[in-house]
Amino acid sequence: MDFRLTQENEQVRELARNFAQTEIKPVVMKFDEAQEFPMELMHKLGALGFLGVTVPEKYGGAGLSYLDYCSIVEEISRIDPSIGLSVAAHNGLCTAHISNFAGEALKRKYLHELASGKKIGAWGLTEPSSGSDSGSMRTVAIRDGQSYILNGSKQFTTHGSVADTIVVMALTDPPKKKKGISAFVFERGTLGFTVGHKENKLGMRASDTSTMVLENLRIPEENLIGSEGEGFTQALQILDSGRIGIAALAVGLAQGALDASVKYAGERVQFGKTLSEFQAIQWKISEMATRIDAARLLTYKAAFLKDRGKDINLAAATAKYFASETAVKCAEEAVQIHGGYGFIKDFPVEKFYRDVKLLTIGEGTSEIQKMVISRNLLDI
Ligand SMILES: Cc1cc2nc3c(=O)[nH]c(=O)nc-3n(C[C@H](O)[C@H](O)[C@H](O)COP(=O)(O)OP(=O)(O)OC[C@H]3O[C@@H](n4cnc5c(N)ncnc54)[C@H](O)[C@@H]3O)c2cc1C
Repeated sequence: MDFRLTQENEQVRELARNFAQTEIKPVVMKFDEAQEFPMELMHKLGALGFLGVTVPEKYGGAGLSYLDYCSIVEEISRIDPSIGLSVAAHNGLCTAHISNFAGEALKRKYLHELASGKKIGAWGLTEPSSGSDSGSMRTVAIRDGQSYILNGSKQFTTHGSVADTIVVMALTDPPKKKKGISAFVFERGTLGFTVGHKENKLGMRASDTSTMVLENLRIPEENLIGSEGEGFTQALQILDSGRIGIAALAVGLAQGALDASVKYAGERVQFGKTLSEFQAIQWKISEMATRIDAARLLTYKAAFLKDRGKDINLAAATAKYFASETAVKCAEEAVQIHGGYGFIKDFPVEKFYRDVKLLTIGEGTSEIQKMVISRNLLDI
């Protein structure tokens, strides 16, 4: 077993780390407070190849490994988890769905502009009445000659109000339930598509989250991804891989919280000593570092399996569950180490504490990850 990263892996990580330090760090709170999507930053991330990380080069992507993708998401999230979320959603949901399941014509039509960041992607599975139970969706796509007509709405869509390219799941054969779900891609501006409510969020505020409304939205049949009835299986596979990206996001956020805590513990003096001299604080730091290391290893293991084309269902759920719960714990301890200063916006841990909660919810809650893990072990 070899735990070393290659020189190429290290270069990719270094590039992401430098970009996060120089381009993202100075504007983190500006976008958080304005709850504004950082479009210009996204274009710069695209120019570096970070918005089509695993997309093959022939479609304009960087053609890198999933391990590299995890390093990029991790380093960005160490500075700003909400931009990490946008990078993960763009790469891991919309772009990955087209890259993995669309035919040649759709790939050529959409992937270049998504991978370069000229266009932003959104992916709609969740609906107002179907979240964890996404198979019970109500959005329908009824065939009409050479087209489908879609009606319904998608809830909590990352980039719902800013995306140019949108993938949605809809029922083409409602009586078949999950087996009657299909996936479609369309462009913003298509008649019948409107943006509903933009959410006002606790955290991840620079990452746009909006409702998408589909009202007699006509999509040509060529925009069906794969075949009718394959949409739910495709979506589950997208979520399996996407969870590795969310695990990397959690590792990055937890590391950012630890970095800030180590720095603060070395500077703050109480009772004539730095906080780092108190055993209670040392043990918090040790606990955080140990959990982060374990979360990172689980995440890289899942990415390693993904890069080798192995089944990732169990490894991805395990990594996502452990890394997201670790990040919640680390963000909380980081605020505690900062005392009152952790509660104000001058220190980065205040934002980590707000951003982190999404990680045990999005792309499958912790309860759903535990269902996936136990189903892999129990004969049920
Ligand atoms: C910021 C943000 C961004 C998002 N981005 C996207 C996106 O881009 N695309 C998209 O499609 N969706 C997106 N989502 C939706 C997200 O995936 C869902 O919120 C998530 O899957 C949970 O669904 P829900 O919110 O409806 O909660 P529910 O499913 O209603 O769950 C509520 C609670 O019940 C628990 N629960 C539910 N079922 C069970 C069960 N069988 N056993 C035990 N406990 C259970 C859950 O774990 C949770 O604790 C986003 C959400 C947020 C908040």
